[in-house]
Amino acid sequence: MRCVGCQAEFAQIDGPTHEYMLSSPGCWAAYGEVLAREYSDNRLAQLHRLTVDTYAVQHPGVNVPAARRSVAVHLSRLYLLLEAGWSMERANNAMLAITEFKDRCDWLEPPSMTGTLSVLEVLQAASNEEHENRARARAESVWKAWAAHHDTVRNWCASL
Ligand SMILES: [Zn+2]
Repeated sequence: MRCVGCQAEFAQIDGPTHEYMLSSPGCWAAYGEVLAREYSDNRLAQLHRLTVDTYAVQHPGVNVPAARRSVAVHLSRLYLLLEAGWSMERANNAMLAITEFKDRCDWLEPPSMTGTLSVLEVLQAASNEEHENRARARAESVWKAWAAHHDTVRNWCASL
């Protein structure tokens, strides 16, 4: 079953999905397993927010207020981490300021996610090192997919 968000193929299962980050149930379940692994290992724990940000903008959903705010917050943090080179701590400290402008952000028409790495590829990593490499490559691939909107995100974050 092709995921409506990331476009990757997942086993057809019955299960929950997120309210506005639209995905297939198989993708949502795989994401939960990736998060569980990151929670259970100190080295992988530092990836947690990057994984969350990446998933959110890889599964942006449709133009409703909660999805607009989610894309604004998570795309901004991806920008700070991946392009602006901010540390995780500094990017976290900016969350309050991002929260203040997120309501004024326009909906960005989501790009195609074809060719981005899925959570399944992270989940199938054979070691922690591979997990980390794939999680980072996945984040880069999704940020790159949003290229048409990079200038808008840079403008959002210009005041930070
Ligand atoms: Zn997906």
